[in-house]
Amino acid sequence: MKLNDRGLLIVISGPSGVGKGTVRKALFEMKNHELIYSVSMTTRAPRPGEVDGVDYYFVTKEEFLKRISEGKFLEWAEFVGNYYGTPLDKVEEQLDLGKEVVLEIEVEGALQVREKAKDAVFIFIVPPGKKALYDRLIKRGTDTPEMIKKRMEKADREFTLAHKYDYIVVNDDVKNAADRIMAIIRAEHAKTERT
Ligand code: 5GP
Repeated sequence: MKLNDRGLLIVISGPSGVGKGTVRKALFEMKNHELIYSVSMTTRAPRPGEVDGVDYYFVTKEEFLKRISEGKFLEWAEFVGNYYGTPLDKVEEQLDLGKEVVLEIEVEGALQVREKAKDAVFIFIVPPGKKALYDRLIKRGTDTPEMIKKRMEKADREFTLAHKYDYIVVNDDVKNAADRIMAIIRAEHAKTERT
């Protein structure tokens, strides 16, 4: 149960290629929600169709490293050769306004948030199987074979950390997965405090 006016921080995480981004988008397309998406900062080059300030804030490595040294990230991680991080000030601002803030981040970053924000909700998205994960990365067609190999290796390591999350959602179907996440968020609101 929310005992104060501060918003709920919701962390959606899981292996790369599991479809987190697609599930998150489906979640935000649902009606009657007041979720705020935390736009991450990255040093990765934009993919076709990605918009600065909407999909990511695209910055140089120098800019990113400067922000790390200034303590401007809630969490950050290096992921297959690029940096990704959650701007701290924007998240704090929205939580203070009582908004529900959703982070969609990889596992290393999620575990950093776990240490800092004890009352956040952690959701781990898994594919129906490892083959499905590989097929999605191939189908997406944005990574080289070497990158796909790296992403699959990283996914193997990430699976072993699933038990550190509060909930596991299988992405067998995007709409179903988004529905289950919304159900989790609603349930979190109805939760009682246990001591
Ligand atoms: P992509 O390059 O496919 O957009 O993202 C690669 C990975 O970085 C995905 O697992 C994505 O969820 C994760 N990611 C995106 N933003 C952040 C962030 O701010 N922090 C962390 N730790 N991971 C992020």
